[in-house]
Amino acid sequence: MGSKDRSGRGGRGWCLGALTLILAAGCASPSLLAPRSAITIESADIIEVTDTTLALRMGVLASQSSIWRAGLDTIRANGFRVLVATPEQVPGLVAGMETYRARHFGEVIPIRDRWGAIVGAVVTVDVPRLERLYRLTGLPDEMLDLDIDRILIHEIYGHVVPLSQTRTIPGGCPDPKPGAPAETSCAIRRENRIREELGLEPRVTYDLRGLSIGRFLYSARGPVAAGRE
Ligand SMILES: [Zn+2]
Repeated sequence: MGSKDRSGRGGRGWCLGALTLILAAGCASPSLLAPRSAITIESADIIEVTDTTLALRMGVLASQSSIWRAGLDTIRANGFRVLVATPEQVPGLVAGMETYRARHFGEVIPIRDRWGAIVGAVVTVDVPRLERLYRLTGLPDEMLDLDIDRILIHEIYGHVVPLSQTRTIPGGCPDPKPGAPAETSCAIRRENRIREELGLEPRVTYDLRGLSIGRFLYSARGPVAAGRE
C-alpha cells in the first residue's frame, strides 16, 4: 500500500559511508523518563496518530492483524494515553519534551504524571529518516512500508501494550541485554507473534537486521558498517 508521494527516489548516488552512524542504533526500550510530561493535544481517541504515513500503516495493521487489534483494544481499555508521531512533531505536542531528539528509528517514552506514575506513552517512528535512507538505497516503497510496520509492531505491541497493563518499566518488556539472544526479550517474542500472523519473517536478532533496510546494508557492507548488537 502506501500512496504517499515519495518521488525523487533513486535520483542521487548514495554513499554507504554516511550510513554507518545511522545504523549504529537499534530500537529503544521504554527507559527514558519524562517526569511531569503531558500530551497537550485533545483527541477523541486515546491513541492519537499525528503523522499521515504512520496513520496509514496503523490502519493497514488493524485491517490485517487480529493480534494488533486486540493489543490496541487493551491500551484503550486500560485508559492509557498514547501519541504516535515522528520525532520532530513531539516537542510541539508534549509538554516537558521540548528538547526531545530521537536516537533510534523507533522509541517509546513513558509519560508520567506529577506524582511519577506512568499514565501514557509517546511512540516515535523516524519516518523522514527512513524515507531518506530508502531514497539513498533505491529500494522500493513496499519494503519501506513493511519496515515501518515492523517498527510499529515492536514499539506498540511489543512495549506499549504491556506497559499499559503494568505501568512499570520492567513490565514494558525491555529489549534484550547486549549479547543476549533476541528471544530472551518478551518484546521480541510479542513482535514475532504478529509477524507470524502477517506472514513476515521472524525477528531473530535485536540489531537492525530485524528490518529489510538493515539486512540490505548488512549484506552490502558487513557487520562493521551495519552496526552492533
Ligand atoms: Zn524495543
